[in-house]
Order: sequence, then structure tokens, then C-alpha cells
Amino acid sequence: MEKIKMTTPLVEMDGDEMTRILWKMIKEELLLPHIDLKTEYYDLGLEHRNETNDQVTVDSAMATKKYKVAVKCATITPNAARMTEYDLKEMWKSPNGTIRAILDGTVFRAPIVVKGIDPCVRNWKKPITIARHAYGDVYKGSEMKIPGAGKVELVYTAENGTQTKELVHEFDGPGIVQGMHNLNGSIESFARSCFTYALDTKQDLWFATKDTISKKYDHTFKDIFQEIYDAEYDDKFKEAGIEYFYTLIDDAVARVMKSQGGFIWACKNYDGDVMSDMVSSAFGSLAMMTSVLVSPEGYYEYEAAHGTVQRHYYKHLKGEETSTNSVATIFAWTGALRKRGELDGIKELMEFADRLEKATIDTIESGKMTKDLALITTIKHPTVLNSEGFIKAIAERL
Ligand code: NAP
Ligand code: MG
Repeated sequence: MEKIKMTTPLVEMDGDEMTRILWKMIKEELLLPHIDLKTEYYDLGLEHRNETNDQVTVDSAMATKKYKVAVKCATITPNAARMTEYDLKEMWKSPNGTIRAILDGTVFRAPIVVKGIDPCVRNWKKPITIARHAYGDVYKGSEMKIPGAGKVELVYTAENGTQTKELVHEFDGPGIVQGMHNLNGSIESFARSCFTYALDTKQDLWFATKDTISKKYDHTFKDIFQEIYDAEYDDKFKEAGIEYFYTLIDDAVARVMKSQGGFIWACKNYDGDVMSDMVSSAFGSLAMMTSVLVSPEGYYEYEAAHGTVQRHYYKHLKGEETSTNSVATIFAWTGALRKRGELDGIKELMEFADRLEKATIDTIESGKMTKDLALITTIKHPTVLNSEGFIKAIAERL
């Protein structure tokens, strides 16, 4: 059979530890036999980031701006232990943070739904995608411990020196205070990324804040979303047969629990942090979550939601067998290949992505799976495969 041809390269960002091992197997067993794979390769493995003073991460993000679609393997975010383990020159920043800062996007996370791995919430029939705003609020907050009686104010000093003040509280004893901010530009990008992704995936978009209590801060989020929706997306949504729906965050939580799923839930930074862990664990496993960064300019970076699975990697290094789930990494590739096919008008590439996803899901539904899934499946007597065996089983079915 002739291999599928590509016209534009994907930006390939290789990574670390167990996911780096899976990355290679996925390419060799599932992709290279079928596709004349064109990628521009960037090695984001920690050793190479250290050698290049992390320039490779910046370069890979710039290449994503050029080619529009990237696929990324999980990478180590260095901490003190990694400094010694890899003899690092510096505690390099999180690659995801660096890439996100350059592409300015929103991260969308959706569970991969498989029969036999049932969500804990019985009425959830379709995936719920969380869109988390990744800038500001408490993550860029300033805080103070107030030692005793006194007055706390917010002070804005304009460039011309004029000041506006707002009383926070007259303390008559010790307490705490927090100041936080966001930027209209960042909220606008967040809104456009969400509307674009909803159109891309033909799903309703829900957004919620606490605007009844936070009449300026949260209300600005609500207003910006509504203004952009009315001006740029209303017609397109109607044409696609999808809906934009705003409500209060507590109402949204109640409705989400009673829903059937099948929509995108846009969340402010903190809400997204908390709710994505709730949604992903209720759907089964972090190894069954897709994650894509969508920039307002239409750049896409696909990855798995989990990390480098360090514990399994150390077993692998000792020559022990591992049973690491490669589904999220496979879906990062299929997401990127499908988007590449869509942008370049290569139908075969899009169909290949569909077939590979189907082969992956069918393999699990036939009872062949990795250990993490075997522990939670309702399928009777599943066959537990090792990391390589699972990928080979998918290859056979494909
Ligand atoms: P992790 O790699 O997500 O793994 C945590 C645990 O979750 C594993 O030990 C394993 O549990 C289970 N797990 C996660 N993915 C799995 C998979 N595909 N198959 C089977 N089990 C899986 O998180 P971590 O151990 O906290 O972090 C390791 C490294 O990843 C860190 O250096 C961190 O900086 C990095 N990280 C990177 C990203 C990213 O690049 N996007 C995201 C998060 C973390 P058991 O051990 O019980 O089997
Ligand atoms: Mg979190």
C-alpha cells in the first residue's frame, strides 16, 4: 500500500522519560508504516533543553507559529531533585509555560470515552471539555498578612500620576489580604480561542463566573465574552447549530452534574484548575485525556494531559516490564495529523487519524488494555498488556 503523503511538516516536540519511549514506539509501529511522515523535529528532552539553554523550547514554539500545528510529548518541569539528577545549569522553566506564553492560548482538555471505562457520573454520556484560561487571577496575585489594626486600600496610579483608591477593609485586628489582576487582551484571546474551538468541534460553549458578587472583575469576563460573541460569532454559531450559554458558576456546576456532557465548559483560571481534576477523575483516568493548546491566531499544539510517568520509567531502566498507557499520546498525534490534513486539504490524513483512534478504542473495548485501565474497567477478565504489547495490538487492528 502506498503511504499517505504530507505537504507541510508538523512541529514535533519530543520529550522525557517513559513518554519519550512511548513516542518512539508510536511512530515506529503506528505512524511510519502508513504515512510519509513530515515533521520538523525539536528535542525538548531535558538534556537537550539544558544544552541549548532552553533555546530549543523557544524555537519549537516559533516553529509552531510558522507551521500552525505541533505535537508535543510530555516533558520534565525541573525541580530541585532534577537539578542534581540531570546536572542542570539552571532550573529551566516549564516548557508548557514557555510555549503558552509565546502562543498565547487556551488549553482544552477532554476525556477519551471508551465503553467499559464508565464515568462515575451515570448520566454523562459524552465527553465534557474543560477550557481553562491560563493567565492571571490568583496565579499572579499579591498577598499580605495584616499584622494588626489598619486600613488596606487598592491604589491605581495612572501614567499621568492621578490616583484612584478603593477601600479593601478597615482592619481592627490581624487578617489577610490579596490583590489580583487580569488583562482585557488576555480575556479577549481566551474568548476567541473558546469560540473558535467550539466551532471546530461543533459543540455548545458554556461559560460561567460569579458576576453577581464580583460586579467589576468577573463581570468584565462576562461582558468581554458577550461583546465578542455578538460581534464575531453569533452568525457562525447559528449556522453550525451550536449555542453559547452564560450562567453563574454555581448554576453551571449544578447543571454539569445533571447534564449528558458533549459541550465545552470555559473556566476562569482557578475554576479550570479545580474543575479539570474533578471532570478527568470522574471520567476515569488522566491517561485517557486529550489536551490541546489553541491560540487566538489559530495555532494548535496537541499533547497528553499526563506527565512523563517517571515511576514507570525507572522500572523500565531497571529492565522491568511496564504497562504504561499510550492512549493520550496517540491521540495527541491523531489530533495533530487530523488538523494538518484539514489545513492542507489532505483527506487521507484526516481519515487515517480517525482510523487510528478507532483502532485504539476498539482494542480497549475488545478487552486488551494497560494495567491502569484494567483496574477500573467493567469489562470482565481484561487482558493486561505491557507498554509495547498494547501498541502492537493497536497496530495489528489498524
Ligand atoms: P505523571 O507523569 O502524570 O504520573 C503520575 C502517576 O499517574 C504515575 O506514576 C502513574 O501512576 C499514573 N499515570 C500517569 N500517566 C499514566 C499513563 N500514561 N499510564 C499509566 N499510568 C499513568 O505525573 P508525575 O509523576 O507527577 O510527573 C512526572 C514528570 O512529568 C514530572 O517531572 C513533571 O514535571 C512532568 N509533567 C509534565 C507534564 C507535561 O509535559 N504536560 C504534565 C505533568 C507533569 P502509577 O505510578 O500508580 O502507575
Ligand atoms: Mg491542578
